Amino acid sequence: MNKETDFKRFLKLDLLPTPWCPGCGNGIVLKTICQVFDELDMPMKGTVVVSGIGCAGRSAGFFNLDSVHTAHGRAIPVAEGIKYANEALNVVVVSGDGDLLGIGGNHLLHAIRRKTDITVICYANEIYGMTGGQASPITPHNIKTLTTPDGNPDYPTDVQPLFRHNNSYFARTTAYHLNHMKKCIREALKFKGFSFVEVRTMCIVNYGRRLGYKNSNEMLLHYKEFYKINDSAGELAGNEIGIVKGLSQITDDR
Ligand code: SF4
Repeated sequence: MNKETDFKRFLKLDLLPTPWCPGCGNGIVLKTICQVFDELDMPMKGTVVVSGIGCAGRSAGFFNLDSVHTAHGRAIPVAEGIKYANEALNVVVVSGDGDLLGIGGNHLLHAIRRKTDITVICYANEIYGMTGGQASPITPHNIKTLTTPDGNPDYPTDVQPLFRHNNSYFARTTAYHLNHMKKCIREALKFKGFSFVEVRTMCIVNYGRRLGYKNSNEMLLHYKEFYKINDSAGELAGNEIGIVKGLSQITDDR
């Protein structure tokens, strides 16, 4: 087999193409996850993928692995239940920022607190894409969306302190920074405890085009220009991507 294409064993190729719009970033994230699965030789019979609802949530069905497509916002508790029922399994959640941080935000909070040994990969496009482009918990301030036509009056949520104080793993990366994305996902999968990778990615149809981007390549170039890699940060600034360090120094007995 060609090493370049070995990652395809983690995909249900007969189900392709995906239902995603041309230029959507979800396919880049899906492919990168499969490449890291292949690199780490994740067991096909010992790895389970769980998703919630939304465009990103459709990913789960394309993995050539046992998978569960749960109700909106409920991917994390279902994943925790699978892990607690069989600790030998590798359990990975794939879903969007609206699903994980908005509808399912309460479940995220408690999974961080419980330090459940699962990995969450958040396709973070800053919008509820599937339902037309409503503002999500990480839509930037002043950005115009379907539900914030005069600009978002709110500021994006920042979950980093929750991860730091609970000795868990948080990383931010983008669909442009492919090698960095692989590193963030690889380290998350190897981390013993709760890990979360936020991948900034493009929803061109229900977000980017409203912001004036002509195509998703322009959004990728924005990621290239805007985000700076800082893998030694105690906390990432809004324009930084990286793996939050210092977690292991925080004691477990607070
Ligand atoms: S609506 Fe947005 S997130 Fe959904 S498939 Fe289309 S481009 Fe992707």
